[in-house]
Amino acid sequence: MRFADIKGNEAAVEVLRSMADSGRIPHAMLLYENQGCGALAIALAYLQRLCCEHPVNGDACGECPSCRQMAKLVHPDVHFVFPVAAGSVIKDDHPVSDMGIGAFRELFLRNPYFSEQELYDALGVEGKSGNISVYEAKNIINQLSLSAVAGGYKAVVMFLPERMNTQAANKLLKILEEPPAKTVFMLITQNPEDVMSTIFSRCQGLRILPFDRSQLVVSAYSEENAALWNPLCGALLKKDLYAALECADAIAALGSREKQKAFCNFASEQIRKAFLCDKGLEDIAYVTDGEAPVRGLSSRFCLKAVSSIDRASMLIGRNVSAKMVFTDLVNRLFVNL
Ligand SMILES: [Zn+2]
Repeated sequence: MRFADIKGNEAAVEVLRSMADSGRIPHAMLLYENQGCGALAIALAYLQRLCCEHPVNGDACGECPSCRQMAKLVHPDVHFVFPVAAGSVIKDDHPVSDMGIGAFRELFLRNPYFSEQELYDALGVEGKSGNISVYEAKNIINQLSLSAVAGGYKAVVMFLPERMNTQAANKLLKILEEPPAKTVFMLITQNPEDVMSTIFSRCQGLRILPFDRSQLVVSAYSEENAALWNPLCGALLKKDLYAALECADAIAALGSREKQKAFCNFASEQIRKAFLCDKGLEDIAYVTDGEAPVRGLSSRFCLKAVSSIDRASMLIGRNVSAKMVFTDLVNRLFVNL
């Protein structure tokens, strides 16, 4: 991955490129994005530039041995850390990223914009979220204590640091603050508000924006979510609370918290589209083929609904019972009709 391969985000790429050019390399950076904006790809383009043996015009050459290793995610001095859990790929009681690195590489090479749920699917993890544990933190410290194989930079790429538990974070604080020479941490979060403040405060932040709004929305559309959302709207519009609560049960029965959160994102997006379409602003609603935003929802309802859905998503993220969260959500939607 070279800077030249990155779509959009010119400003962020320019910041990273000038850091690399000037040699003023922050030892820890936190890139934050909404899911699917390509922050991981941008982080890798930056590291490839830093590790390249013959950079050309501020970008990696793409041809030297280091670039070839980076392109396959097999550079010996670049370590990948991501949330893991035991599943069909990792069977160990103390799962760490190295055990699932093959699946991670394959996933990234197939689609650099993958979601957290797609990561769990690739790891064969069902019905739970992964985490970054203290075993992982020990692993990172061990790897960084060895000298760089290629003699240049060493890097830790941490995808979703919001999945780190307190014990792991505490263990990493010192090395994040004072890493060995020529060591770079690149953290990529999709929920900056959930990253521990002790970690956040030790990193230089950089916002990564969606590269193409319409593409992002297409990826957010899912038949599975539509099959839950449309009947719920139908029940709400008919003021049929009983049917609406049955929909809540069906949403709560989605296989994992990630799927439940994805449903919340989907529902917010659908309300935004419905709102824009009702205002005659189809042009900026990016309604895709086969998609039919529910009509007839009042503006007041849309605004209240989006904040209720955000609340539900936040509670799901905090492990509150899904049945309780979605029953409450449906009741809130119902009273705001
Ligand atoms: Zn190169």
